[in-house]
Amino acid sequence: MPLKIALAGNPNSGKTTLFNVLTGSNQFVGNWPGVTVEKKEGRLRHEKEITITDLPGIYSLSPYTLEEVITRQYLLEEHPDVILNIVDASNLERNLFLTTQLLELGIPVVVALNMMDVVEKNGDVIDTAALSKLLGCSVVTISALKSKGISALIQTIKEDGTARSVTPPHRFDDTVEQALEQIAAHLPPTVKASQARFYTIKLFERDSKLPSSFEPVLRACEPIIESVETALDDDAESIITAGRYLFLTSEIARCYRKKTQKKHSTSDKIDRIVTNRFAALPIFAVIMFLVYFISVTTVGTFVTDWTNDGLFGEGFHLFGIGAGEYETAVEAFEADPTLEEPSASDYGIWVNGIPVLLENGLDAINTAPWLKDLILNGIVAGVGAVLGFVPQMLVLFFLLAFLESCGYMARIAFILDRIFRKFGLSGKSFIPMLIGTGCGVPGIMASRTIENERDRKMTIMTTTFIPCSAKLPIIAMIAGALFGGAWWVAPSAYFVGIAAIITSGILLKKTKLFSGDPAPFVMELPAYHWPTVRNILSSMWERGWSFIKKAGTVILLSSIFIWFTSTYGIENGQFAAVSENSNSFIAMIGSVFAWIFAPLGFGTWQSAVAAINGLVAKENVVNTFGILYGFAEVAEDGAEFWSRLAADFTVVSAYAFLVFNLLCAPCFAAIGAIKREMNSAKWTFIAIGYQTIFAYAVALCINQIGSLILFGTFSVFTVVAFLIVAAFLWLLLRPAKQSERVRLKGASNA
Ligand code: GDP
Ligand code: MG
Repeated sequence: MPLKIALAGNPNSGKTTLFNVLTGSNQFVGNWPGVTVEKKEGRLRHEKEITITDLPGIYSLSPYTLEEVITRQYLLEEHPDVILNIVDASNLERNLFLTTQLLELGIPVVVALNMMDVVEKNGDVIDTAALSKLLGCSVVTISALKSKGISALIQTIKEDGTARSVTPPHRFDDTVEQALEQIAAHLPPTVKASQARFYTIKLFERDSKLPSSFEPVLRACEPIIESVETALDDDAESIITAGRYLFLTSEIARCYRKKTQKKHSTSDKIDRIVTNRFAALPIFAVIMFLVYFISVTTVGTFVTDWTNDGLFGEGFHLFGIGAGEYETAVEAFEADPTLEEPSASDYGIWVNGIPVLLENGLDAINTAPWLKDLILNGIVAGVGAVLGFVPQMLVLFFLLAFLESCGYMARIAFILDRIFRKFGLSGKSFIPMLIGTGCGVPGIMASRTIENERDRKMTIMTTTFIPCSAKLPIIAMIAGALFGGAWWVAPSAYFVGIAAIITSGILLKKTKLFSGDPAPFVMELPAYHWPTVRNILSSMWERGWSFIKKAGTVILLSSIFIWFTSTYGIENGQFAAVSENSNSFIAMIGSVFAWIFAPLGFGTWQSAVAAINGLVAKENVVNTFGILYGFAEVAEDGAEFWSRLAADFTVVSAYAFLVFNLLCAPCFAAIGAIKREMNSAKWTFIAIGYQTIFAYAVALCINQIGSLILFGTFSVFTVVAFLIVAAFLWLLLRPAKQSERVRLKGASNA
């Protein structure tokens, strides 16, 4: 028979592991409606009628975090047949705090005591029969990681799910129970009998997320609640929390016996070094360097080069066999053109790249030239350049998934949180920013590891301020053309990026979008352990695939757009494939937008087009100048046209141009990633809108104030610049409205 199972439990209790064991590959990952918290659903292996929903990990049903709200809403409104409550048996007391609340929902609960392998290894003993009796629900012991006890668990779920008998859970002390009885009499008739206990307790706690229909009831109950509060000299919510803990520490505690603890577990020993006051940061730096080194430079570059030059380029020698010989032959030919030109296919086994294969195919079926151009130079070049990132991203996601699931990521957050919290970010924001120095796309996607929604949004919005590797040629171009290659230009770009992140954090934190109490800092350091390869690979693939799908569509459309507008235009009064760049549609678009950039000191259509092309890929900025100045091919830093650039820009406007391109909306691939991670069109617009306006404001101030100081130019925009600086300082220094209250209640002080 069909059965709906809701999987609930604390973070790190093994929910995902159990979910994967239960569902195998029959799972679907999405997001909860309207929010970016992951939603996983799946069907039980071999039993398609039984569906499982992996709910966000939570410590309680109080609506303080988004995760708590989602889980609670689901349990109350979607009527699952069984709640499968997964519990970390090595941390029984703290995990069962949630269980006491789940038992009040009027839905059969099956408690799965997970991590039994750890419990056994520690030599601890749990009396599951006694525990089951006390809780009034089935208790099954399992090890999700070792796939032990799973079939017994499934059996129990099926029995309990069809029996539907729910034993009333534990009682609070008499004063409270009397008050609860009185409150129950006031409950609106819409409340189902099975959910009465839950709503009664929530009313007593003056829960802020009760439906508005409860307001009159709450007012009527206020005297009852207040009298209990006076009698027990505590606030209602704490009274309930204390009641639950009393139950856990007095009665439940008798169900298990911990072997006298070994002084220090291996995990504690590792932590004493890794989170050591002095060693923590250096160790962290080394680990991050390794992650970066492996994913962005060595392995990453290798696979990226292979995809870009091989798969999406000319082609490659299978397993690299013959590549060396071919290269030697090419060198010999270049030195002595009388020789016969070598052909790559004569060495090893040569595999043509996708563009070559496509071109041959398109030629074979006599494709119209414009269509061939669109497919090869528009779509394949554009989409291929982005797909080239995928292997590198996969390497990176693999390493991150490892750090995440072995438990080190929690330590990093712990070490850095204090610093990052000051400007509205979380300790985990560091990872996306570090990765962002290589490429913003995986950087933005790495923000997934940040559970708190506000921190994650803030991180997504600010990560691309850090110069990514594709922006380096722009820096080199400006430094070379106008600053004589001065050494300080590149470091100053990173400095601008970091300053932009810090000031944005402080500034945004005070706005309505991000205001409110900071997320409760429930820091938990799970014991270190070896993750399973399966978990790491599936986490890596999930992230990689979602990038390919979502970002892929944005990039496809934008590549077609840029190709079309730069290939076609109006020439001699007619629509035509243009021979002069200045006649193309993109030049027209550039001219339309050029005036916008005039206050920043670069109001030419070429600069506008370069900035627009930068949206496709920042590498394009240099190329675009090259093409528009009439060079077919230029060096990476565009050294050929530096003199032209120097004539069009002043040092101040060039630096403003540089800063604008560093800080404004990132490339389409990164915008696609932002859209994917924000899971909301509105927030995507807020993010890129904020970045672009911020970039514009900073560039304007640099150009205007710089020109005033260096050249004594003064205009109405100089005044605007000073106004912006004043407004900026005011926004930065004004006090935050909300008091910074940190919640420390319930599970968080366990
Ligand atoms: P979630 O946060 O609840 O989804 O927890 P995960 O499924 O990500 O598990 C947290 C960590 O605990 C993972 O690294 C798992 O490998 C580990 N884990 C899960 N179940 C077991 C188990 O039965 N025994 C042991 N030793 N580790 C487990
Ligand atoms: Mg999980």
